[in-house]
Amino acid sequence: MGEIKLSASQADIKTFFTQIEPLSFEENILELACNSPIVKERIENRYHAQIKRSAEKITKEKVELSIAVIPFEIRIANPQEKIGPLFHKEEEKSFSKEDFNKSRTEANLFEKYTFENFIVGANNRLAHTVAMTIAENPGKAYNPFFIYSGVGLGKTHLMQAIGNRILEKFPDHRVVYCPGESFTNELVESIRLAKVQKNALTKFKDKYRKADVLLIDDVQFIAGREATQEEFFHAFNALFMAGKQIVLTSDKPPSEIQKLEKRLSSRFASGMIADMQMPDSEMRSAILRSKKEELKLNVPNEICDFIAQNTETNIRELEGAFTQIITRMQTLNKSFTMENVREALGKKDKVQNIAPNMILKATATYYGIKLTDIKGHRRLKEFVTPRQLAMFLIRNLTSLSLTDIGNLFEGKDHTTVLHSIEKIKKEVEQKDKLRQDAENIKTTLGIK
Ligand code: ADP
Ligand code: MG
Repeated sequence: MGEIKLSASQADIKTFFTQIEPLSFEENILELACNSPIVKERIENRYHAQIKRSAEKITKEKVELSIAVIPFEIRIANPQEKIGPLFHKEEEKSFSKEDFNKSRTEANLFEKYTFENFIVGANNRLAHTVAMTIAENPGKAYNPFFIYSGVGLGKTHLMQAIGNRILEKFPDHRVVYCPGESFTNELVESIRLAKVQKNALTKFKDKYRKADVLLIDDVQFIAGREATQEEFFHAFNALFMAGKQIVLTSDKPPSEIQKLEKRLSSRFASGMIADMQMPDSEMRSAILRSKKEELKLNVPNEICDFIAQNTETNIRELEGAFTQIITRMQTLNKSFTMENVREALGKKDKVQNIAPNMILKATATYYGIKLTDIKGHRRLKEFVTPRQLAMFLIRNLTSLSLTDIGNLFEGKDHTTVLHSIEKIKKEVEQKDKLRQDAENIKTTLGIK
């Protein structure tokens, strides 16, 4: 209008230009709306070339002009038809693969963690569904979203998948992924820097408060430090109030994180909480099969099944065992037969059909202690070794999972069971007496 004012007549400006308004500017077509055919005709006849030229001068691109007759009342009643400011070229920008890679790196996201390679089962279905919903609709559906699980069960993977999908769908969103530990370290560092560099702290604050999507992984690491929790509390509130998406992960539910301020744990719990468990052996096998396809490896499915059945700690270790076996087979130039794999996995074949309770009883009888003592929690040496040996035997002779074994022993944690078994495994190799005990107990059970 500034340009046109210089040359158009005062009368035309008052009568006609006041009756047109910009509708949209897309794909280099400038669309104007006016109230009546008379206005349209007048503008087109007299000012078409001039408006076009002015628009081209401003956008530095070729512009086509289109004038639509839409009565003012209709435009007011349908505000969504009005596209706001005339030149919003920035937002129309299309994003190339390079732009995407750049924003992914800036967001601190890895290419390998996506929804496409995240296997879903009963153990993680809720978390996955919520994550997908959030990725479609950041800041709208569930906020904050809090995921917790034991180590190696997919928290980081799922959280990063959310970030990657959001960047794909909404390229102009600012996604910030940060491990809780880095958040703490960065804050401490900027407090230190702030003594010599005035804007150090502001820079830190800006990074987090300007995010559209904030992903804090292992948020339990911010617990314990007052300054960190204080800053995080403010960042959290600022983002939350602005309707930005926040996703958090932790090894425990919010209320169980030690030394976490109440105001934070209650905020963490205020949105959606989902946990993830160890997948069952079928799903573990599905994970390996998908990995095998991804790596284009020629490994029989039974081998995946076998490794899956025998790795019960977490998915990270499952993948570790798989990779180790593959590497071993490849370097030794061996084929993927069950026998070779079994050897590589260092596991004896499991004898089925032995009741775990029989093993318990046989071990207790052998050592002359009561069943309640072998199962119980008393830490006397004469109970501890038999107890751990029984766990070891049950593990080797049945297909019970670590958790199942823990339950047999008055609900012990599966990590305790794992620790006991590992300990006995070493001792059986080193101590003749213990090895003999194990053999004797097996004999009483009718196993050679
Ligand atoms: P956490 O953060 O809970 O410790 P990670 O997200 O690092 O666990 O997962 C450990 C490994 O297991 C990663 O390599 C990840 O890709 C893989 N993983 C975890 N869950 C799944 C799943 N559902 N499908 C496929 N891979 C998974
Ligand atoms: Mg993690």
